[in-house]
Parts: sequence; C-alpha cells; structure tokens
Amino acid sequence: MDKNFDVIVIGGGPGGYVCAIRSAQLGFKTACIESRGTLGGTCLNVGCIPSKSLLNLSENYHKAQNEFNNLGIESSGVKLNLSKMMNNKNKSVLTLTKGVEYLFKKNKITYLKGTGSILSKNTVSVADESKKKISYQTKNIIISTGSIPSSLSGIKIDENNIVSSTGALSFNKVPKELIIIGGGYIGLEMGSIWKRLGSKVTVIEFLDHIIPGMDKDVSNEFLKILTKQGINFKLDSKVTSVNVLRNKTIVDFTNNKSAKRERIECDKVLVAVGRKSNIGSDIVKLGIKLEKEKIKVNNKFETNIKGIYAIGDCIHLGPMLAHKAEDEGIAVAEIIAGQAGHVNYDVIPAVIYTSPEVASVGKTEQELQKESIKYKVGKFPFLANSRAKVNNETEGFVKIIADEKTDKVLGVHIIGSHAGTMIAEMALAMEFGASSEDIARTCHAHPTHTEAVKEAALAVDKRPIHF
Ligand SMILES: Cc1cc2nc3c(=O)[nH]c(=O)nc-3n(C[C@H](O)[C@H](O)[C@H](O)COP(=O)(O)OP(=O)(O)OC[C@H]3O[C@@H](n4cnc5c(N)ncnc54)[C@H](O)[C@@H]3O)c2cc1C
Repeated sequence: MDKNFDVIVIGGGPGGYVCAIRSAQLGFKTACIESRGTLGGTCLNVGCIPSKSLLNLSENYHKAQNEFNNLGIESSGVKLNLSKMMNNKNKSVLTLTKGVEYLFKKNKITYLKGTGSILSKNTVSVADESKKKISYQTKNIIISTGSIPSSLSGIKIDENNIVSSTGALSFNKVPKELIIIGGGYIGLEMGSIWKRLGSKVTVIEFLDHIIPGMDKDVSNEFLKILTKQGINFKLDSKVTSVNVLRNKTIVDFTNNKSAKRERIECDKVLVAVGRKSNIGSDIVKLGIKLEKEKIKVNNKFETNIKGIYAIGDCIHLGPMLAHKAEDEGIAVAEIIAGQAGHVNYDVIPAVIYTSPEVASVGKTEQELQKESIKYKVGKFPFLANSRAKVNNETEGFVKIIADEKTDKVLGVHIIGSHAGTMIAEMALAMEFGASSEDIARTCHAHPTHTEAVKEAALAVDKRPIHF
C-alpha cells in the first residue's frame, strides 16, 4: 500500500469521517485512522445514535403502557423485553457504522484501523491491536480525537455500579433505583429512558437549575415537566462520595445552601458531569498549544504547528456536538483546498431529545442582559396550537428573542414535542439574518406545530392571532 497521503485524519467520529469524505471529494488522497474498531466515533457508537434509539423505544413503551388506553387504543398486557430493545439499538448502531465504512469505500478513503500518533508534522504512525506500528507520510494532519466522559475527584467509573453514559446505554436489567450525578442533557436523556422503563430516578445537580446555559424560562418549564413525569431532583447539591458496598451503591451529598447532608442507596449511579477533550500524549509531546485543556486552533482550524489542524470535541471552539464537529470537518477540508470554509458559531442549534424535546439556537435572555443588548420577546404556548392540541402534545412553548431596534432574531428557544425538528427553520432564518417580522410573514402550513413559530414571531410585535 502507498504510504503517502495529502490528508490524514486521526479519529473516525462525525468530525473526522465527514472531514475525510469532504477531503476525498475535493481530490485529496485521504486516510482516516480509527482505534475503536468501528467508524462513527462517540456519536454513532455510544452517543447520539444509541441514546436516540432508546429514547424512541422507551417513549413508545411508556405511551403504550400509560397513554394509549385513554385514547381508545386497547393496549393492556404491554410488556418490556429489554434484551430485544437493546438488540434493536445495537442493530441501528451497526447499520449506521457500516454505512460510514461504505461511504469510505465509495470515496476511496483509506481506513487505517489502529491508534494513530503524530511523530512530526508530516508523519503519523498507526499501532494495530498487536501494537505493530506502521508510519505514513502526509501533507496535512487533522486531529479529530473527540472526547471522553469526565468524572468527579474520588469517584471511579467502573461501568458496573458506577457508570458513564456508555454503561447506562447498555444496562442488562432495569435498575430499581438510579442516581444521576449531573442535570445536563446527557443525564436528563438517560434519566428519561430509565424512568420510562421503570427505574426510580433521582438527579443530583450542583447548580440551582438544570441544563447550565439554557434560557431560564425554558429550563424552569423543563424542570416542572420532568418533575411531573416522576424524576426526582436534588438541586444545589454537591455529591461528596460514592461507595459500593455489597453490590449496593451509596451516594452522599450535601445541600450547598442549608449544608444538610443526605444519603441515597441505589443500584446504579450514572456520572454525567460532562466530557473532556481526548488529548493524546503525542499532542502534548509535540507542543501543540491547549486552551482550558482543549486544543487551541486559529480561524482556519490550524494549531500552532503549520499543517496540523484540529476539529470537533477536542478543540476549544463551540459546543461539544456532532453537527458542530461535522461542519468543522467540512470547513477545514475546504480551507486546506484553498476555499472559504467557515462555521458560524452564533448559529449552532442544540437539542435535548426528551419528551417534550427542548431546542435552542442563538442567545438566551440572560446572555443578552450580560451583553447589555436590548431585546423584545415573543412567546406562544403549544396549548394554543391546533395540531399540538389534537395530538395531546400541549406542553411547552416557542420563544423568539429579537433585537429591540432592528427586530433581527437573536435567539429562539423551543420546548415542545417536535422542538428538535422545528429549530432547523429558526437556524436557517438566523443564517439569513431574518427579523421576527420576516418569520411572521412567512406562510406556515396548517395544522402544524410550526404555526407556533409564526405565532411567536407575531407575539414579538404583540399581535399573535390564536392567543
Ligand atoms: C450519550 C451521548 C449522547 C449524545 N447525543 C448527542 C446528540 O444527540 N446530538 C449531538 O450533536 N451530539 C451528541 N453527543 C455528542 C457527540 O457524540 C459528540 O459531540 C461527537 O461525537 C463529537 O464528534 P468528534 O468527531 O469530535 O469526536 P468523537 O465522536 O468522540 O470521535 C473521536 C474518535 O476518535 C477516535 N480516536 C481517538 N484517539 C484516537 C487515536 N489516537 N487514533 C485513532 N483513533 C482515535 C475515538 O475512538 C473516536 O471514535 C452525545 C454524546 C454522548 C456521550
């Protein structure tokens, strides 16, 4: 095999594999190194895809068990078969990871299986399972090594009693009692899955609210809805220790304000306190600069070493999200090809796939207040949207924040059953610099949940029709 490439990508996650495909499309001789044995990274193997599969299946189970009978669909006798559900999830993961392998073949990308390390700005070595190393030469290196779960000091994840999201995606039995440390999106998605399948779920969160950084209006509504669904919350609380004693796990925590100490005994603990960049020792040895333990890149995604680029979860820019990594993968390939690759970090949608879903793009009210930007707000509840009403999906609202003077949309926050899909329209509107008036004057199909977007835009100017 020829060992000379134009582009070598280290890491086959959404950042890396998309970058490899775009590089090949642009005519570069491209290789992608992946150590996990399958392509797709965290997202396809142990992140977005398996979690969304279980969210979908558990929601169907929960509805069949608790809601269908009231709607004239006789569904008594519905039973959970967890191993079948897990098999279905695994099948989805396999199909999608194999799909990426097919795309590599189609685009003539060399897939190097093993662990990559950068020896110099033009040389990468790949160690296979037997630790045998082969070196490759390349004009450009793209680091896309992603992220790994973080823990708290003194808490060791064993993926048995104390698990990360990876372990929580593969429990072979529904835990009777599950404690989740961290009220971020991963903790709440996992909590929703296991609550619907029968666990008693308690979320312990250090802050006094869930989902750090989320618009407060939405976060308060979200907390109310999840509490109504039966998830227990211990906010403003610091976990002080987690100990395993005869297969029971004991979690001690203290309330930040009252200093009251509490202890809960449970079957499983999920540590969902965030993720950290996956920085190999080769990166440190080469002297690649970091910022807050993430790889620092310039506006061309280049590190401080010319010809070595980085993208995705391992860099200091933007949120740790798969679509952000993908867009950076495309942008960096285009930049290397002399084109104008670009990522607009002001318009990156974020979605939480609970029921209802929560989605946002742009600024929150709190961010605008900090920046002393004057704004106006339009809100419209799904309770007044006809489609949401007939579907019994009336929880939540659409909130549009627009500049007080120019009316330009600065942020959109949606909590509702189709929020994740609806946010795309808002991202597009913001990319085109739309005003709330532009959205209000765009014809939206009836009856759809998206009419709530039009109404929220009308509400910015205090003229909603149906509320
Ligand atoms: C439970 C969970 C749910 C999530 N849900 C969502 C969601 O719904 N939507 C969303 O946008 N994001 C979601 N994410 C986040 C998303 O998975 C990441 O943002 C995304 O995978 C980042 O892509 P990446 O390519 O930067 O890194 P990764 O996907 O982490 O891929 C990096 C790859 O590099 C490989 N690698 C590392 N070092 C080396 C090396 N030296 N040699 C060879 N290979 C190496 C790793 O094995 C890995 O496969 C979720 C994450 C988790 C954990």
